[in-house]
Amino acid sequence: MSTLPAHNKRVVLVSFVGKGNQPTPAHFAVRDHKDFNEPAHPPLEDGQIRLQTLYLSVDPYMRGRMNQDKSYVDPFVPGQPMCGSGVGRIVESKNPSYAVGDILTSQKRLAWPFQEYVVFDAETASHYTRLDPKTVPPQLISATIGWLGMPGLTAYFGMTDRARPKEGETLVVSGAAGACGSVAGQIGKIYNCRVVGIVGSQEKIDYIKQLGFDAGIVYKDKSKEQLSSEIAAACPKGVDIYYDNVGGEISEAVLQHINRNGRVPICGQISQYNNVEMAPLPKDLQSQLEEKHVERGWFMVMNFREKFAEGWAEMLRWANDGRLTCKETVYEGLENVPTAFLGLFKGDNIGKAIIRVSQ
Ligand code: NAP
Repeated sequence: MSTLPAHNKRVVLVSFVGKGNQPTPAHFAVRDHKDFNEPAHPPLEDGQIRLQTLYLSVDPYMRGRMNQDKSYVDPFVPGQPMCGSGVGRIVESKNPSYAVGDILTSQKRLAWPFQEYVVFDAETASHYTRLDPKTVPPQLISATIGWLGMPGLTAYFGMTDRARPKEGETLVVSGAAGACGSVAGQIGKIYNCRVVGIVGSQEKIDYIKQLGFDAGIVYKDKSKEQLSSEIAAACPKGVDIYYDNVGGEISEAVLQHINRNGRVPICGQISQYNNVEMAPLPKDLQSQLEEKHVERGWFMVMNFREKFAEGWAEMLRWANDGRLTCKETVYEGLENVPTAFLGLFKGDNIGKAIIRVSQ
């Protein structure tokens, strides 16, 4: 067993944010084990393992967990550690199936406590994926909760199952420089599509072009009409697939250019998450989509759980072949969870936003 520090810090949600409100740093706090009247590292019982958290992920869906009402995921419990995607190394084991040094990561279960050290019993551990060092080199460990993890798999299934790209088609991706968007766009290039990304800054256009996107459009400070004419210029043959990460006026502008039999996987609507309700599409646009037989609908990555191994294997192959990559915006330490999370709504991250909890 490695030497354990005298602390075991965790990040808690202090109080619900509530629908229609903006989250602020005051909604989060870092607490120590003493605040919970717990030892820093309780002795393990038979079957348990202790892990040191290496990386945690902040993700836009967590905003829904900051409202009291239940959505498709349970709300966080105020005063208790937040949880989500994490990856950690086993530092102590009382379970013969797990060895010290093994690395477990979140794919199917997004319940890793936002805590420096965690204890899992055998049942909990079984929901996490053990990394094989032969296929996952050390530099990809953080990616397993990011662009090769839940968000990456979202892009994979959104593209392969819902968008079904064909050579020569035009794909538009919003939120294109983020975790899901940058992977969706690269998959579009693997399928030989023309790929156009919509992003918040020129720096992000430069980034997506490095990834192979054909063109980029900055949406900030532009009217829907301006945006619409820039989309028309970037997509001379119209839009066959719109991979929607953001919703709102950006999506309305793209949908004006969608072709007959187009596909619109709705991955997310981040522009709406701090609103009371998600704005529906204007009725005339909705009618146009119906008339053009456009397939538009939400999908949830967790509905593809049974196929994760297949998607993960293909993405790892692409990553190891140099066809798929993604930057990470790494924030140091649990103290930076609020900054990293709030930054998602301001566009602070390029690629995947990740918290490095320990080296
Ligand atoms: P991300 O794109 O890495 O980060 C969020 C990005 O969204 C920001 O960097 C920002 O980039 C953009 N953004 C923030 N506020 C915006 C606004 N008001 N209008 C337009 N763009 C805005 O996040 P991600 O993890 O890849 O998630 C992307 C989307 O996928 C989210 O909507 C998320 O909820 C969804 N998602 C869905 C599933 C599923 O199963 N369906 C799974 C994972 C994620 P800019 O600088 O470009 O504004």
